[in-house]
Amino acid sequence: MINNEKYEVVIGLEVHAQLMTRSKLFCADDTKFGSAPNTQVSPISLAHPGTLPKLNKKVVELTVKLGVALNCEIEQNNFFARKNYFYPDLPKGYQISQHTAPICKGGFVSIASADGKKKIQLNRIHIEEDAGKSIHDFDEKYTCIDLNRAGVPLVEIVTDPVIHSADDAFLFLTELRKIVRWLDVCDGNMEEGSMRCDANISIRLKGDHQLGKRVEVKNLNSIRNVKRAIEIEFERLIEVTQKNEIIIQETRSYDADKNITFSLRSKEEAEDYRYFPEPDLPAFFISEEYIEQIKSALPELPELLKDQFISSYGLSEYDANNICNDKEDISFFNNLIQYTRHYKAVANWMLGPLKFYCNEHHISFSAFPLSHPLIAELIELTEAGKLSFANATGKVLQALILNPQKTAIETALSLNLIQENDEAAVMAWIEETINAMPEKVKEYKSGKKGLIGLFSGEVKKRSKGKADMESVTRLLNEKLNQ
Ligand code: ADP
Ligand code: MG
Repeated sequence: MINNEKYEVVIGLEVHAQLMTRSKLFCADDTKFGSAPNTQVSPISLAHPGTLPKLNKKVVELTVKLGVALNCEIEQNNFFARKNYFYPDLPKGYQISQHTAPICKGGFVSIASADGKKKIQLNRIHIEEDAGKSIHDFDEKYTCIDLNRAGVPLVEIVTDPVIHSADDAFLFLTELRKIVRWLDVCDGNMEEGSMRCDANISIRLKGDHQLGKRVEVKNLNSIRNVKRAIEIEFERLIEVTQKNEIIIQETRSYDADKNITFSLRSKEEAEDYRYFPEPDLPAFFISEEYIEQIKSALPELPELLKDQFISSYGLSEYDANNICNDKEDISFFNNLIQYTRHYKAVANWMLGPLKFYCNEHHISFSAFPLSHPLIAELIELTEAGKLSFANATGKVLQALILNPQKTAIETALSLNLIQENDEAAVMAWIEETINAMPEKVKEYKSGKKGLIGLFSGEVKKRSKGKADMESVTRLLNEKLNQ
């Protein structure tokens, strides 16, 4: 029997994020994903003798932007180091990285954990270059190497060992991805490998403060897989401990199909990378003014925007959260509210019928086939009671998409869907109804309140479906309960 109650899991994450620059970290080679293999590789990427790397300014800008957004302390005196190791996808024989002096120190990411808000403390963010890619499934006999990725700029974001559940790890990565996308620092695409995560996992008895021996799990290509891998690794570590076996510090790989982890290599001996300062690159200094400039140009983060959406537009936490998840959603919302002040209705429409349409057609809001004023007009008609929500979203919306030359009111009129919410007109139908059913009215007044449905049905019939049912319900109640 595995006893989870006794143990606590301790997790530290290392996230590699590819920076959104057009060229590589130290040369002008293109960074585009998916090009033909080895077409974006210059002699500098390969460190051929006689070539010199040159730092891409944009990399520093994006890293400082991320660091500032994550509340890090920015190191002003920076230099690169060589990390020496042999691997087929690294023909240079070394990786240029930051070692003892990362550009960003500390900082945190806030998550809304099941047991309250938490700040996940970061250890550092440093800049490094990516290696090439080994391709094992292209040729039967050989492993192929694609060096397009060699030298592409990465930041490594490292947390302290302060995460204590797979769910929190999931939330942390989701939030981090949201932020890097928000800042246009990284596209956050884990399938294409532009965001990658290694999970360091250990266990200890609850209440203990010392850290246990950790394993590092690699090859986690989605946030969901990070969560699953942590869950099974937690179980496995408990099992090993309870069998009185020794946990080996090792690197493991996750197999998503089988949902298992397996050992890649032992890490008992600390690796010796023979770090030394990169002789081909000068140290670089970041001024206070530079940091301030980036700070003041920083876009408001989603978390803050969400609070504003709640207080300024009266949206629910849920709606605000959903809209503020994505820059495009926010801009769509902001565009729509230029034309209507029914903010809650805009949120409803966006998260309901409009999103539904987008999902069905695999498009985003920015590609929605109707103009903002037209959508706003439709929302206004519905809010004014001229059109029922069901007809507006079920019929008029579709008709407008087919013929966006017409206005919403023209389209609704041509479909004969405009309803009457003029009080006098609605009241006239109500009076007719009441006069036609004196017995039922008596029953209603003696307590059979369920009859209200019958009356409103009758009003609907008499109005030939034109009566705005919200007004009908309100006026019927008024009339009958006089
Ligand atoms: P390395 O560079 O050798 O991988 P670091 O000390 O930089 O080692 O740590 C890498 C990651 O492992 C960090 O996210 C850190 O929080 C995490 N970590 C370190 N020790 C433990 C531990 N005992 N249990 C869980 N995570 C750990
Ligand atoms: Mg590591």
